[in-house]
Amino acid sequence: MTYRVKEVFGPTIQGEGLHAGMACMFLRLAGCNAWDGRPETRAASACPYCDTDFRGGEPMTLDAIMARLGSQPAMGCVLSGGEPLLQADAALLATLGSAFTWVDVETNGTRSCPPRPTNVFVSCSPKAVAGQPVLVEPDWWKVLIPAQEAFIDRALASGKPVFVQPVCPDGGPAGEGYARNLKRCVQLCVERGCRLSLQLHKYAGVP
Ligand code: SF4
Repeated sequence: MTYRVKEVFGPTIQGEGLHAGMACMFLRLAGCNAWDGRPETRAASACPYCDTDFRGGEPMTLDAIMARLGSQPAMGCVLSGGEPLLQADAALLATLGSAFTWVDVETNGTRSCPPRPTNVFVSCSPKAVAGQPVLVEPDWWKVLIPAQEAFIDRALASGKPVFVQPVCPDGGPAGEGYARNLKRCVQLCVERGCRLSLQLHKYAGVP
């Protein structure tokens, strides 16, 4: 049994969601069901703003993944993609949960999450993937503004924390487009009770 792994890196800082600002290792699984990753199909995909390279990857066993992550008991681990729940199974989640203080699974919400330990959390950034509704029940939502604003009502109705995160049209947290998106996020915090998520790793200059 192997997983297709795009990259393993760290230590770094979790920039988003409930564990923002905390040290972590990062495990990125390859592949996504929202976009095939080719530049020529980006505009027509569910995520034209995607800034992640998730193509390719290397087949790795669970033991090889854990050896690459190393022993970091004081840290968390971010399990991301691509779409990590295309591959993640209960064995991977249990092993990560026993090796790290916390684990954030960052999903687009179109796949249910396998059974997981209580320190493994699901963060859903809901994507409008054609024919694949959002079905995961996350621990919190991360709604990109303006791309996913139509999902705000449903996210708030769940009773779970709803982070709003400004899209960076110019690749980083700067420029007029970013300022406009940030202003809208602040408005949603004031008027709807959302929480601001600012991708702290981009401010800190870490991957
Ligand atoms: S779901 Fe995430 S990784 Fe996949 S295309 Fe969308 S933004 Fe990129």
